[in-house]
Amino acid sequence: MFEKVLVANRGEIALRIIRACQELGVSTVAIYSDADSEALHVRHADESVNIGPPPAAKSYLNIQAILDAAEQSGAEAVHPGYGFLAENAAFAAACKEAGLTFIGPLASAIERMGDKAVARTLAVEADVPVVPGSEALASTEEIMKSAAEVGYPVMVKAATGGGGRGIRVAEDEERLRASVRVAKQEAEAAFGDGSLYLEKLLLQPRHVEVQVIGDREGNIVHLYERECSMQRRRQKVLEEAPSPGISPGTREQMAEAAVRLARESGYTNAGTVEFLVDKDENFYFIEMNTRVQVEHPITEMITGVDLVKEQVRVASGEPLSIEQEDVVPKGWAMEFRINAEDPDQDFMPWPGEISFLELPGGPGVRVDSALYQGYRIPPFYDSLIGKLIVWGLTREEAIDRARRALREYKIEGVKTTIPLHLRLLDDEAFASGNYHTGYLEELLGD
Ligand code: ADP
Ligand code: ADP
Ligand code: MG
Repeated sequence: MFEKVLVANRGEIALRIIRACQELGVSTVAIYSDADSEALHVRHADESVNIGPPPAAKSYLNIQAILDAAEQSGAEAVHPGYGFLAENAAFAAACKEAGLTFIGPLASAIERMGDKAVARTLAVEADVPVVPGSEALASTEEIMKSAAEVGYPVMVKAATGGGGRGIRVAEDEERLRASVRVAKQEAEAAFGDGSLYLEKLLLQPRHVEVQVIGDREGNIVHLYERECSMQRRRQKVLEEAPSPGISPGTREQMAEAAVRLARESGYTNAGTVEFLVDKDENFYFIEMNTRVQVEHPITEMITGVDLVKEQVRVASGEPLSIEQEDVVPKGWAMEFRINAEDPDQDFMPWPGEISFLELPGGPGVRVDSALYQGYRIPPFYDSLIGKLIVWGLTREEAIDRARRALREYKIEGVKTTIPLHLRLLDDEAFASGNYHTGYLEELLGD
């Protein structure tokens, strides 16, 4: 096991990782920008290093500054969390070069899966079904030709995209030409790479993803699935596990497919294999996320496995502490993403000072956040400020508990997405478990 780990992130996920390290007896180094000197992750870590000015490009995305912080503090390993550099193969490689263990898959695996068009090819090789579509396409003419083959409507996607960006839907040829231009520009601006690929647009699919984790000895286990169909602008809003929309047979098949892909690609550490599922429960691979995911706690709640501790364990060379037989899901878990945004004003970001805070508690309630009363949410980063996670023996109990806990959750001084979650908990489609990836936008009239 490591003696000291540097946490290359901020916010609730940095705190989550620090907590895992503390339980493992590993000391922690936080990094922070000038905007984050008062942040909770800095207070909880054993040591902290300032890595630069507020803009992420100058701090949390500044590879050299982070490597210097690791050297200065004597950390042996780096946990990247999610977002920022978590899926940056060059960062994983630079860590290795500097003699640091990157707590994640090998740089080569990140690179392969980071190109979603390449990942599709790997899935096909592993006998995992993919959405009908194309490989990476070089020219607009190639894209038009491929769309004609696949059949409209289609979706153009940035090969290195993430966070729901660089994706456009097109119903016909004319609109596709326009979409390609916009998607390319968006992808170049956001990801520095304008390559696109194409998929058939699935109608009203569900998004169901499977958690896997592998160690260096070649053991790979899955931890079943998460339902992530409640989305806005292709970003998850709330998640639940298990998925209310698949039968036990499909559940097993999807889990096996995810393990097959991980095995065939020599995958280590935690990863998520994302699928879309149609009305007939056919499932199609869309991408693999090579990192811990925002919604990992719901898997922890139903399996009892601490995913972040497992990540640290396997990165240090230890075997997984669990075998497949040990993973026996129990009950139902839900996660509600609490963003500092105003749901009544088109989800406008709402940074500012938390003037009053009262956290929920009681049975089956978990609070992952980096908030405290008096904290000032800086305007420079993602608007996710916390997550409420609940567990119940049944889905009904989880819903009742979520409603109770979200009512207890008092945040004043900034607008948050809590009112939206309370509304969804009383929504009939949500209550029935029968909702798809377009449902929330329909409901909001977006
Ligand atoms: P998850 O499935 O874990 O929710 P997301 O795609 O929503 O994954 O991304 C997790 C977090 O990382 C979100 O806060 C999102 O805004 C951020 N993120 C995703 N992709 C990128 C990216 N390419 N660059 C920076 N941040 C990103
Ligand atoms: P990202 O890398 O931004 O997370 P994904 O490929 O995972 O992109 O897709 C994000 C979301 O976009 C999915 O959860 C789903 O809602 C929607 N989506 C992606 N591909 C398709 C498709 N072929 N048909 C319909 N919806 C899709
Ligand atoms: Mg995705």
